[in-house]
Amino acid sequence: MARIAVAGFQHETNTFSPIKATFADFEAADAWPGLTRGEALFEAVAGINLPIAGFVKEARGLRHELVPLTWCQAQPSGPVTRDAYERVSALIVEAIREAGTLDAIYLDLHGAMVAEHIDDADGELLRRIRALAGPQLPIVASLDFHANVSPCMAEEASALVSFRTYPHVDMADTGARAARCLHGLIGRPRPAHALEQIDFLMPLTSQSTLVEPMRSLMDEAMVLERAPLQVVGLTAGFPASDVAECGPAVYACGDGSTATRHAARAIADRVRAREHEFALEIHTIDEVIAVARGMMPERGRPLILVDTQDNPGAGGNADTMHLIRALHGARIERVLAGIICDPAAAARAHESGTGTSIALSLGSQAGSLGDAPLDAEYRVEALGDGRFTGTGPFYLGSRFELGPMALLRCGEVRIAVASRKQQAADQAMFRHLGAEPADHAVLLLKSSVHFRADFGSMASRIMVVEGPGPNVPDPARLPFRKLRPGLRLRPGPGGSSA
Ligand SMILES: [Zn+2]
Repeated sequence: MARIAVAGFQHETNTFSPIKATFADFEAADAWPGLTRGEALFEAVAGINLPIAGFVKEARGLRHELVPLTWCQAQPSGPVTRDAYERVSALIVEAIREAGTLDAIYLDLHGAMVAEHIDDADGELLRRIRALAGPQLPIVASLDFHANVSPCMAEEASALVSFRTYPHVDMADTGARAARCLHGLIGRPRPAHALEQIDFLMPLTSQSTLVEPMRSLMDEAMVLERAPLQVVGLTAGFPASDVAECGPAVYACGDGSTATRHAARAIADRVRAREHEFALEIHTIDEVIAVARGMMPERGRPLILVDTQDNPGAGGNADTMHLIRALHGARIERVLAGIICDPAAAARAHESGTGTSIALSLGSQAGSLGDAPLDAEYRVEALGDGRFTGTGPFYLGSRFELGPMALLRCGEVRIAVASRKQQAADQAMFRHLGAEPADHAVLLLKSSVHFRADFGSMASRIMVVEGPGPNVPDPARLPFRKLRPGLRLRPGPGGSSA
């Protein structure tokens, strides 16, 4: 039995978003718990599809003693404030200092966190913990599939274990893999590691492991993850991040530096060879409306429109109305859209009551360029308190806290409104308001890829649509300044390593 400290600090930073992540943002619950410390931690995350939950369950099964420290996350946004980063880091580092004798440390990290004052914020946290723990103590971190894995992270951790799916249906499973990996490292010398960074940015919507080329590339990486290697991880990177370490990478660790290096190189070369297959596929709103008009609606098989640029899971504000306005203007029938974050509109709907009509200036509160609120008369079809449990594979077990919610109807468009922003990746978010997604002809979802886990199988067609918002789908259109030399902003023809 080993004594293992357990902590987590997750943020996916879109450095192009002006809205920073404050300490209060890490304290607040949304789909996942707010900042939790000590004994309450394991109870707070139990049963949720989160790495820490999977780690705790597996490590307990392996009969280890777990020491809960601090866990928190905040919605993707602009950089983490210096105050929030230093306070959370100090909570973790000080708790490790006070924890007594430890045999290992587990960290539930995202891997694409940027703080106001530190570009490689995950690497810096690992560096501080390593400095305290000494060179040999096993430190294993689980990482998101969107981690921008840096040489510092690879150097300071004993092992990095990343998600294998996008949509991330294996978050808890990744925690369990991290537990087994950590179990194997206790009492042994640190494994060798290798990191191959790949020199092109992958648009988010081209990264899904449900479709090619990522589906088979991930399979190839999984096949190589066997003795003498402990980990072969392929991460797609989070492209909306203006830092030197931005981009996809392959990480391996295990016994023997040659085998480790060869495995990382082999998978990285496979990704490079298929570079052209990661090209962005996106449609204009006019193309989408032509498709919606021309289709023969099939019951239970909606057309799904993907509003990736306003995806709050990638730093969007979940409040742009541009696509909703276009669908309303074109009189497309039986549309369900969401989730729009507009606390004032939700409050007005609650004051007015179900079955009433209210004049609202809905959405666009964050003022995204090219967007405006939709001024109209809305019928309040349903109200909710924003408290419900996730049922789809991605948010499974999540205890949502989205504040007052309302289902508002404007012509043929029904809009689910919440008081806190959250990616539309679970049907429970609409069913909470009595709206059944499959009963609609068109679904407009504020998501990039995670929606596929719970909505993908019902879609007659999935179309990514151009619109306003900070999660610019084509990385080549972002005003980068800090990327490392040689990194291509969009997938090229492939096969080269220019
Ligand atoms: Zn992710």
